[in-house]
Amino acid sequence: SVEFTDVTKRFGDHTVLDHLDFTVKAGSHVTLIGPSGSGKTTILRMLMTLTKPDSGTITVDGDQLFPAPEKQVREVRKKIGMVFQQFNLFPNMSVLRNLTEAPVTVLGLSKDEAEERARELLEMVGLTDKADAKPSRLSGGQQQRVAIARALAMRPQFLLLDEVTSALDPELVAGALDVLRDIARGTDITMLCVTHEMNFARDISDQVLMFDAGRIVESGPPEKIFNDPEEERTREFLSAVL
Ligand code: ATP
Repeated sequence: SVEFTDVTKRFGDHTVLDHLDFTVKAGSHVTLIGPSGSGKTTILRMLMTLTKPDSGTITVDGDQLFPAPEKQVREVRKKIGMVFQQFNLFPNMSVLRNLTEAPVTVLGLSKDEAEERARELLEMVGLTDKADAKPSRLSGGQQQRVAIARALAMRPQFLLLDEVTSALDPELVAGALDVLRDIARGTDITMLCVTHEMNFARDISDQVLMFDAGRIVESGPPEKIFNDPEEERTREFLSAVL
């Protein structure tokens, strides 16, 4: 599981996360929704240790990620993979090498093991024929599928998805979402997903967390949040995006 306990984060005098508490159960799929600037991305970045809370604790799979000694942070961090809005592929490596680099250098897999695994993942995302291409030769949708495969190559227990379809042309969105649906259904990876794709959220989530101004205003199963929200703030947000 992932547990945030009393987590606060400020940038200057702007409180981005305000005494936040929530738990994501192991194996579940949780979607974070809410207006721009409400703190959703900051939560994922904290789990990737790209930014730190000012106070509070973050626990992953029973081990503290914050606060924690550097060595423990590195161990916990290995369990977590992330896919970014802007793909962030290594531009001068082939697609295959994008998938094998970290498994070899960080996990210590042999080159052969890493390549075998990489080819399986490329097959899963429908890009077997692109193994030797440079990322710049691929469409945005293909690049994003490579980024998803690259995250999975590290065999993460936790997969963080930050608006992974918002940089894609509309006709490429469905392909990327299909891949993510397959992962949600076919693996036991715990998923934390920031998305504006409400149909996708409805499909894959066990739980939806509605954020506003650094707080969770409401949470529950997608049927409840999307069909019968309790809070006015949730209704306003959904009527603006649906
Ligand atoms: P969006 O949907 O637009 O990505 P979000 O809910 O993910 O929004 P965050 O990206 O978490 O929101 O940002 C929350 C707030 O923190 C925003 O007001 C943002 O401007 C601010 N913020 C984020 N990172 C920094 C930073 N490094 N320095 C200063 N302010 C920051």
